[in-house]
Amino acid sequence: MSNYILSNYNRIDLEFINGKGSWLYTKDDKYLDFSSGIAVNCLGHANQKLIKALQTQAGKLWHTSNLFRISEQEELAKKLCGYSFADKVFFCNSGAEATEAIVKIIRKYHYMMGNPNKKNIIVLNNAFHGRTMTSIQAGSSKSHREGFLAKNDCDCGFSRVKENNILQLKKQINKNTAAILFEPIQGEGGINTFSNSFFKDIKRLCKEEKILLAFDEVQSGIARTGKLFSHEWYGVTPDIMSLAKGLGGGFPIGAVLMVDKLAKCMGYGSHGSTFGGNQLACSVALAVLKEVSKKKFLLKVQRNGLFLRKHLEDLKKKYPDIIISIKGKGLLTGIEFSESTEKFCFLARKKKLILVPAANNVVRLLPPLNVSKADIRIAVSIIKNCLGEL
Ligand code: PLP
Repeated sequence: MSNYILSNYNRIDLEFINGKGSWLYTKDDKYLDFSSGIAVNCLGHANQKLIKALQTQAGKLWHTSNLFRISEQEELAKKLCGYSFADKVFFCNSGAEATEAIVKIIRKYHYMMGNPNKKNIIVLNNAFHGRTMTSIQAGSSKSHREGFLAKNDCDCGFSRVKENNILQLKKQINKNTAAILFEPIQGEGGINTFSNSFFKDIKRLCKEEKILLAFDEVQSGIARTGKLFSHEWYGVTPDIMSLAKGLGGGFPIGAVLMVDKLAKCMGYGSHGSTFGGNQLACSVALAVLKEVSKKKFLLKVQRNGLFLRKHLEDLKKKYPDIIISIKGKGLLTGIEFSESTEKFCFLARKKKLILVPAANNVVRLLPPLNVSKADIRIAVSIIKNCLGEL
């Protein structure tokens, strides 16, 4: 391991030098990748369409900054708005930057409406929204906050409620509440889904209380659940939403989509990003979006999600003491274990399957969205062998 890289990651001593589809290659081995770089490589590794988009743009122009018009950015924004509730888009480079922008835009909106004290955002238990100073406050992990905030900063601008509990949420709302922000399906927090009625009640509450609804679709968006955006499953649209991860298929890009009334409050100089939405990133994201927005593609993600789930449910029946539940939607899938998952991920890796832990006792299965049934079968059979060994 390098002596020169900050040791903030507990890295696995494994280096991949090549990738193709759902497979990763070391010098002398191959691994089935059911992590997709943590829900990023949505079209797999070395996807020819993405390579072509990147290479074509790389030969023309990489970056000019947002001082100038960028037609690739304009086209991407138009497409994202066309596919969603949104009227305007802001581009950045990551999920945490998108969270930052969401919080700023929410606060600016209320400020411009003559309510400068409406700054508090209600967030959920088990939330994860990134690792910047603002997003660690929105997230629920105490360890992510430890040492970074002044003691009385810990609840600065955010209050946390239990999921699926509309009464508690209602009680938290006061005159300074600006918005409710949550992941429609929680990723890092353990692949947690919420009831349809929770979504509907929140939407109604937001309307009644004149507060904003914000979704973090950094992990659950871009077709991961078999809909382009996971909130489509619930028939509830937000006022503002973040995207990142899958949007660039591995090229860093983030986005915040919003309705006009919010966009109007963000005038010149109110926010910015040097790299955000540059030609290279937007060209790749356009190629990603072209693929993942196809009806056929989305239906296949749904079908493969159900196929994977069925096999996992069978394993749950066979190992009821080890597996508590199968969670998630589409190819944002989790296996909830009765114990810590560290050993399971290690065993799977030894058998050449890459998985990602979430929370303490959930293993995430995040294959590329174009994964084949044959590769799903291989993953399931490795998982079965690991369960046998546990
Ligand atoms: N929001 C959610 C729901 C995430 O899952 C993540 C990352 O895992 C983030 C925000 C932060 O994204 P990034 O790591 O790109 O800053």
